[in-house]
Amino acid sequence: MLVSTSYATKMQYQSKHKADPTKITDIFDGTHYHSLQEMFITIGAEELPTWCFSDPCNIALGLSADGFGPFKHRTKTAWPIILFNYNLPPKEHFLKQNIISIGVVPGPKKPCDFNSFLWPLVQELLWLEIGVSAFDVITKDIFFLHAYLIIVFGDIPAISMMMCIKGHNAISPCCMCTIKGVHIPSLQVMTHYVPLCRNGFPDSQEQYNPCAFPLRNHTSFMEQAMEVQYAPTNVDYEGLATKYGIKGLPLLSTLSSLSFPVSFPYNFMHLIWTNLIPNQNQPPHPSPRCHKITSRNIPPFG
Ligand SMILES: [Zn+2]
Repeated sequence: MLVSTSYATKMQYQSKHKADPTKITDIFDGTHYHSLQEMFITIGAEELPTWCFSDPCNIALGLSADGFGPFKHRTKTAWPIILFNYNLPPKEHFLKQNIISIGVVPGPKKPCDFNSFLWPLVQELLWLEIGVSAFDVITKDIFFLHAYLIIVFGDIPAISMMMCIKGHNAISPCCMCTIKGVHIPSLQVMTHYVPLCRNGFPDSQEQYNPCAFPLRNHTSFMEQAMEVQYAPTNVDYEGLATKYGIKGLPLLSTLSSLSFPVSFPYNFMHLIWTNLIPNQNQPPHPSPRCHKITSRNIPPFG
């Protein structure tokens, strides 16, 4: 992209972006990006003598993965792994021609070890944190290119895989907070349910205030992930994994530009738009409420 004059010019958007503290217009107005600007890069235990986004040519990347069914009427799934270049202007971030396609996990089922498929990408991202030499077509000069992965998004199963957490059916189901699931007393099934008010649930009398969830933070998440990863026995492992809802150390935690769980939001598409906007090949939904929303007036993955 940097050897193309048009791309290189568009990618200056990030360095020219002026933050207005009263508005959020882009990822560069977010607190995570601002905290990275004051943070030295660490690779393993070594702190590098440079901090994130210290140079206007530094690139911010986003990673997304999701399962999709390539064949109609079949349950087989494949899992694309794609990167977005946030240095491009917001209107162009998600255009098909600007998506950096990393690869596709072929399926036919959900990958049982997603980290193994992410490994070649993470190796390259570590190189990009350290810096690689590149040619800048605008200055006609060789420079040291740094790129940082600052956000990872997808639906709940995809996020669970990339964060190495147990996911929405676990006793500790949430990647953002430590809320606990309970069984519905009248049912014999083992499905967990996460009500805020626990009256009538013999397993738990705790109440959760929706304005003050017990949020996870990066330090506690990593400490718990380490505890699970290095559990001395299988019994200890199972107990800790159930308690924390974490399956082990996520490979992506080797990148110092990611913070758990802040860098792993559920994407807007799945939170809001799924089942509201008609798919391209389907007839419009009969509900008049849905007619007002079309795929044309919303940004993809907004
Ligand atoms: Zn939560």
